[in-house]
Amino acid sequence: MRLAQLLFSQGFGTRRECEGLILAGRVAIGGAVHADPDHEVDPGGLVFSVDGQDWPYHERACLVMHKPAGYECSQKPSAWPSVYTLLPAPLRRRGVQAVGRLDQDTTGLLVLTDDGPLIHRLTSPKKHVAKVYEVTTADPVTPAQVERLLAGVVLRDDPAPVRAAACEATDAHGLRLTLTEGKYHQVKRMVAAVGNRVVALHRSRFGALELPPDLAPGQWRWLDGPQDILGP
Ligand code: URA
Repeated sequence: MRLAQLLFSQGFGTRRECEGLILAGRVAIGGAVHADPDHEVDPGGLVFSVDGQDWPYHERACLVMHKPAGYECSQKPSAWPSVYTLLPAPLRRRGVQAVGRLDQDTTGLLVLTDDGPLIHRLTSPKKHVAKVYEVTTADPVTPAQVERLLAGVVLRDDPAPVRAAACEATDAHGLRLTLTEGKYHQVKRMVAAVGNRVVALHRSRFGALELPPDLAPGQWRWLDGPQDILGP
């Protein structure tokens, strides 16, 4: 692959802008500057640098972010900053998208990718990818509430009951809830439907992927690929 094509594929601007970066001596591989846009590179496993910052080549971008509270999962947020402002410009330019949205006040595991079929695979209700939520409730959790969440509750806009794939009380005001769908405000509405209220919500797992404990709110990192979420 031409070096200019490689930069273009990784979100570093238009073809002309990528050629300009290379001609200006701002692109290096293994510490050696390459100022020829036509220089041929093998992209597999390549780490290149732009202005001294290292970038691993990824044919498809697949990331995990620890979403902080106070951010919207929208490209055009209405009241709060967008989670996309937490990503570097090349990733935004590549069209990386959040896989399912978390509410502004929800924290935790957010997967982002520019792989359209993967987004479909991870959000399709038919595929039953499990999402685990740690819920803090306003009132003490009762065994009857846990049973009802497991048995299924009817939400206002849909006659079909929605049920938790798994649900357990974690302490007096805590629930761990596993869902395989992703309806609008689903956790908050399910908990409200059993007579309690969510005061804090955190997603700790998405499919096979757990939120890395050393990933601080607002930080993101590359995943190896879909297998990190879908499992082996
Ligand atoms: N359910 C909710 O109610 N909010 C979220 O952010 C995610 C799931």
